[in-house]
Amino acid sequence: MARIYNFSPGPAMLPNEVMEQARDEMLNWHNTGMSVMEMSHRGKQYTEIAEESEADFRELLSIPSNYKVLFLQGGAASQFAMVPMNLLRGKKKADYLCTGHWSEKAIAEGQKFCEVNVVANTKSTKFTHIPAQQDWNLDSEEAAYFHYTPNETIAGVEFHWIPEIGSVPLAVDMSSTLLSRPIDISKFGVIYAGAQKNIGCAGLTIIIIREDLMGQTLPGTPTMFDYQIHAKNNSMYNTPSTYPWYISSLIFKWLKRKGGLVAMAEINHKKAETLYGFIDSSSFYTNPVDPACRSWMNVPFILANSNLDEQFLHLAKQAGLSNLKGHRSVGGMRASIYNAMPQEGINALVDFMKEFERTKG
Ligand code: PMP
Repeated sequence: MARIYNFSPGPAMLPNEVMEQARDEMLNWHNTGMSVMEMSHRGKQYTEIAEESEADFRELLSIPSNYKVLFLQGGAASQFAMVPMNLLRGKKKADYLCTGHWSEKAIAEGQKFCEVNVVANTKSTKFTHIPAQQDWNLDSEEAAYFHYTPNETIAGVEFHWIPEIGSVPLAVDMSSTLLSRPIDISKFGVIYAGAQKNIGCAGLTIIIIREDLMGQTLPGTPTMFDYQIHAKNNSMYNTPSTYPWYISSLIFKWLKRKGGLVAMAEINHKKAETLYGFIDSSSFYTNPVDPACRSWMNVPFILANSNLDEQFLHLAKQAGLSNLKGHRSVGGMRASIYNAMPQEGINALVDFMKEFERTKG
């Protein structure tokens, strides 16, 4: 079977070029007679992969020298705990903005470690907008950090701006947006992301952390949850997720060949506009999200008649368009269109949706 257009929210589609390269190098990486999977993480060859991947990643995001990049395991969900453990630094409170399911998860975990002040919560509007910063109830005096989720993978709400809240460090879950566009790293205290969307395959979690925020963990913090330990050991305090890290190293090279994040942003913006443009022009499909904060990565949409959902999914799959089922909390459909989804995939989806509306709508 030919490869399909996979609209999964994550683990998500990876670029064909990268998959082909991984396949070609699978048994024998660069004439070493070994797979990357079989290499010692401290050996010469793997050290080369690790160092080069960090250099490429730093270049892609223009990461300033006072930030460390960590390649860890545990998923973004572990970061919900690692952030308070590392960033409270003697304080007892933190500010959190709640704009969706993943913000809620981060808040619930944060509450185990500190007094969480929820500055605003959009749950009552089904997480379809982002409140203006002037309406947040920030506790800037006492908050150790401010946490938010720049892209909510489920409801499809994305920040197209960065909050300005003075010296309180911003701690952000960029799992479903990192590497989709350039960002000003210097505005953030810590950025974390699971790899299985834009960065590579599941099993790797990337953290970008400002150096001065490390080294003051909560008493009792396990060694493995201490950012500074990982930073001092170049993410090799223990055995890292070597193969997923290698897959990400191929993704970084692919992104550089595509023209870096400025080029990706243009491509991603156009993809999102194509899909939202079509949805808005149709009376059969709707996207409930405020146009000012629609995600470029995750596009939920509902059909005018939910009795047709199953049929839509079935026929879409037959047309080579898979994993379009929306999250149960939102219903309907969701197209996740990360970096690896080409414009052709969006065009194929729009053509399918038009045809479905014409014949069944
Ligand atoms: N945050 C966001 C925004 C996510 O989309 C996800 C996964 N879909 C997570 C956190 C959880 O990530 P992980 O499974 O890597 O722990």
